[in-house]
Amino acid sequence: MKITKLEAVIIVTEVKNPMKDALHTYDAGTRVVTKIHTDEGIIGYGSSFFGRGKASGAILKLMLESELGPHLIGEDPHFTRKIRKKLWSIADYHGAEGFSHFAISAIDIALWDIIGKKANLPTAKVLGAVRDRIPAYCMAGWYVDTEKEYVAKCIETVEEGFKAIKLKVGKYSLENDIERIKIAQREVGPDIKIMVDANQGFDEKEALRRGRAYEQLGVRWFEEPLIPQHKESSARLARALDIPIAIGENFYSKFQFYDAVQAGAASIYQPDNRRAGGPTEWLEIGAITDVAGHHIASHGGGPANVNMLCVLPNAIFLESGSLKKEDGLLKTRLTMVDGEVLLPDVPGMGTDVDEEYIEKYRVD
Ligand SMILES: [Mg+2]
Repeated sequence: MKITKLEAVIIVTEVKNPMKDALHTYDAGTRVVTKIHTDEGIIGYGSSFFGRGKASGAILKLMLESELGPHLIGEDPHFTRKIRKKLWSIADYHGAEGFSHFAISAIDIALWDIIGKKANLPTAKVLGAVRDRIPAYCMAGWYVDTEKEYVAKCIETVEEGFKAIKLKVGKYSLENDIERIKIAQREVGPDIKIMVDANQGFDEKEALRRGRAYEQLGVRWFEEPLIPQHKESSARLARALDIPIAIGENFYSKFQFYDAVQAGAASIYQPDNRRAGGPTEWLEIGAITDVAGHHIASHGGGPANVNMLCVLPNAIFLESGSLKKEDGLLKTRLTMVDGEVLLPDVPGMGTDVDEEYIEKYRVD
């Protein structure tokens, strides 16, 4: 099998209610769909999205179609490690991380989509699955305008079947964080696990002060207390606190995960399949963290993440939004049973897109 073409399509949809965390507002509805064509008629898909940065889609498209894509033509899509090495070599002059790694990740996901389709199996089964479902939590507690809205979202999430929810913290005082956690605990009850996410909002000292309060409240994990570059600060924090530290959504490639594991920066690692790399890289991130005795939880949801988490023995959680509110870009819909999301029974990564949706919202 040979790759014949790569195309990247930019889609923009309106964001009516931008999501807010401690520091950021996610107001850009930009996505890029990567399509890799083969001489056997199989097409592999990978999708990236950008919550912020309205020009990001155009930059990624250029990277995919003009910088990296031409080097894929004629390659056998099964040679994922050969292709990754080639793409790193092309990108390393301007940096293989950042936008380059968004492109490399999307390409790798599309390649593994092709491999799964060729085998007529979900990619997780081609890679060697360890499970066929994964516990899911919902990112429920964004910063919204009213307490009523906040409570409604937490309740709605639990009614949908999630047995764990995550809350944003760190935008205001510690007292405000405590109030948000206690309100959620009161509304969803003691059987629902609660995680918190500071989205890099603190320095080490403040993270320590707040982390001590979160652990007193029984919070399951404390996510991204610091900027991702501060791995040694994170390690001191992880040693000082009993609550697990979760980081990794802003790491590019196994090298950054390895550095964090070496520093002892966390005990839960959260690769994001837009940045971290595709299945080829995830297998290695999984091994690095597993050897160190740490866990994996995805940053972000969808069928591609489920395929990866069903392969990694040390994976514990899928992050997700409401499964009822998927907007129609992906053809594969996920199903949750008893708080766990099932591996979709479709060949490949489950990343096929609805072509009518693309035609409606494409901007290039
Ligand atoms: Mg996060």
